[in-house]
Amino acid sequence: MTVSTLVLRIRSSFQYPPTLHPSPISSSSILASPRLLKLAFTAAFLFVSITLILASGRISTRLTSLVGHLTPSKLSSATFTSVRPLTTATMAPARYRNPPQAPPKFTATPGSLIEDTKKLIERSRNVQDAVANLTKDSASFDNVLLPMAHDDNEMGIEAHIIGFYQAVSPDKSLRDASTDAEKLLDDFGIESIMREDVFNMVDAASKKDEKLDPESARLLEKNHKAYIRNGLGVPAGPKRDRFKEIKKRLSEIGIQFQKTLNEENGGLWFTLEELDGLPKDILDNLEKGQGENEGKVRLTFKYPDYFPTMKYAKRADVRQKVFLENENKCNSNVPLFREAIVLRDEAARILGYENHAQFRIEDKMAKTPKTVDDFLGDLRERLAPGGVQEISKLLKLKEEDLKNRGQEKEFDNRYYLWDHRFYDRLMLEKDYSLDHEKIAEYFPLGTTIRGMLHIFEELFGLAFVEITGEDRDRISETKKSSDIVWHEDVQLFSVWDDEGEGSGFVGYLYLDLHPREGKYGHAANFNLQPGYINENGKRRYPATALVCNFSKPTPKKPSLLKHDEVVTLFHELGHGIHDLVSRTTYSQFHGTNTVRDFVEAPSQMLENWCWTPSQLKALSHHYSYTSPEYKAAYEESADSKDKPEERIPDELISNLIKAKHVNDALFNLRQLHFGIFDMTVHEPKSHADVEKLDVTETYNRLRKEISKLDGPEVFGDGKNWKWANGEATFGHLIGGYDAGYYGYLSSQVYSADMFYTVFKADPMNATEGRRYRHTVLERGGSQDEMQTLVDFLGRKPSTEAFYKELGLSG
Ligand SMILES: [Zn+2]
Repeated sequence: MTVSTLVLRIRSSFQYPPTLHPSPISSSSILASPRLLKLAFTAAFLFVSITLILASGRISTRLTSLVGHLTPSKLSSATFTSVRPLTTATMAPARYRNPPQAPPKFTATPGSLIEDTKKLIERSRNVQDAVANLTKDSASFDNVLLPMAHDDNEMGIEAHIIGFYQAVSPDKSLRDASTDAEKLLDDFGIESIMREDVFNMVDAASKKDEKLDPESARLLEKNHKAYIRNGLGVPAGPKRDRFKEIKKRLSEIGIQFQKTLNEENGGLWFTLEELDGLPKDILDNLEKGQGENEGKVRLTFKYPDYFPTMKYAKRADVRQKVFLENENKCNSNVPLFREAIVLRDEAARILGYENHAQFRIEDKMAKTPKTVDDFLGDLRERLAPGGVQEISKLLKLKEEDLKNRGQEKEFDNRYYLWDHRFYDRLMLEKDYSLDHEKIAEYFPLGTTIRGMLHIFEELFGLAFVEITGEDRDRISETKKSSDIVWHEDVQLFSVWDDEGEGSGFVGYLYLDLHPREGKYGHAANFNLQPGYINENGKRRYPATALVCNFSKPTPKKPSLLKHDEVVTLFHELGHGIHDLVSRTTYSQFHGTNTVRDFVEAPSQMLENWCWTPSQLKALSHHYSYTSPEYKAAYEESADSKDKPEERIPDELISNLIKAKHVNDALFNLRQLHFGIFDMTVHEPKSHADVEKLDVTETYNRLRKEISKLDGPEVFGDGKNWKWANGEATFGHLIGGYDAGYYGYLSSQVYSADMFYTVFKADPMNATEGRRYRHTVLERGGSQDEMQTLVDFLGRKPSTEAFYKELGLSG
């Protein structure tokens, strides 16, 4: 493995797999909106979203302009086939039938994963040994950096998939082997980046000041810096040894922490009476109890159970219990989290930084922790009054609701963490007639994905061809279709340039959409194979996968997406497209391998399409029109007296958009809690400070101070802040977003600027879409991201659109 992989590898355990982009919000917690992720800019769900805006006074102006956008749809409707079917390989024009590169195989066994990993490591080690045997005089870009970059490229072809099994394989022994293999790779990454003999040659090559093309110059500079950031600026001896030891331990912590999150399998048994309020189809899908649990159902902490419970369960004691257990579901991670922040601080100080945040932010767009702290502080100040106002309205609604139910005695004038999703949902239904279940009827997963792919086709000049049945056998190197996917549910597409773009092959896209035991529990995009130019000057094409957890279809209903899920899906697909259309020379800069505080911007920008009436209309397709069976099932269901329109009615769209910013200050304050907690634990004044920091208390106390929602600390003497360990479920901070969570908020500055400046007036402008593809997405991380923005915007980015969208400008 080479420097670059090293850099990547090191990121991947020490920092993070560059390929994975969970959206913000932490798994657990969250106050945030029932729209789970709302998004305006949004994002996240687990990663998910974020919306900004807010402030009541300004909403009315915004609304007017938004509603002004509601033009009658050009799409009309009414037959089962009005959604253009996806092209399949069999139907595709001949030029799209035979990809020039076979898709990767998923035929590993636990034994082969380890064996292959060892071979990769050995090959890389040989490349490094050869470099180390050069002399400083002869060292140059061509004989030092280039061989390692080529090795790195090739390693990416296998290594990402080796690590991917742990997130998706149905077979536990494969997942475990994948984890073990990744550990080997991580250890090797650390070994490599600590090699002084190789560093000496890189250092010598960098001093040659050769004339290089810009991407190669960047490769040299970044990799040179990577050695220094990994301790080679520290003289050999005990300090450097200690640094190395810390890195190894941090790698182990990262893997263990994520494994605990992935394999979390807890749940609670409830009677149906306790779950009063939950929609029937959620209840129907819960495991039924036997024996001592006879008559009960089991709620897990997976999204499809957890969020509906917090939104719909009428009993506050039930919501409280589920909320607290969810926060406490990964308590074995508590000591690991603490150990990680202490070790990171020690490592940063060994390198001469004031703290871990300074170390992490130095090479980001923000450059210094102060820039980040100022940004978060300013945003907090602007959002705080709106948050207080929102709580007072929600509290009134809570009082009314309890009164209506004859439970006014329970009202204690407090608004709790476990109240928020429930009352936020109720407010949207009551005051904005927003019925998420109704809206979801218009977004069956299958047609919605097709609609999204069509948007990308038109905007970016792409063609998606689904590969099914015999075509899978045909393109598989082994001629066996089952060898080219990791699970039978996985959908596979070949992606092409359209005719106008030259009809060339772009890469492979995989969709793995439903929950399974042992599967990664959120929504994320994974690069499976990077793109690059190989030693012979030939392009290698990328493969990318979306891993999501949408509910499964039933005989009566397809999988229906809530609007926030529509946004999440579009967001993650946005990462996937970034990963596909990128064209860089080196895999190190491919696709989403940009700086962390930029990487979300392209996907956040695309979320705006899911808030544009014409696009929502085009994406929608009432499920009763998708098959005769679903039509019959819909007609049978009790609440369906009227035949629905095929496309989502204007009124529903209008309600949705009107409600976009409701309780948005609270949503964003929640994001700020994550961001400020992240900076707080990574920016201690001294090492002694971080050693004595009470992490759990800091997490819960900051949450209260920032969001103003009450937790169990208000019970008893009011001093107990240790009611749960939310940090133990906060995978971002162990998985690569350490001192980086702010990026979800700050990259919205860029996404808002790009959308308002270029796309808002005409989101489907194909000329601008292609310009965006080639100027921004294609570049990946191969040039300074600020330069990319300047190239696209024609000027430096500004915060104006961001605060305007938030209703906070001026
Ligand atoms: Zn993302």
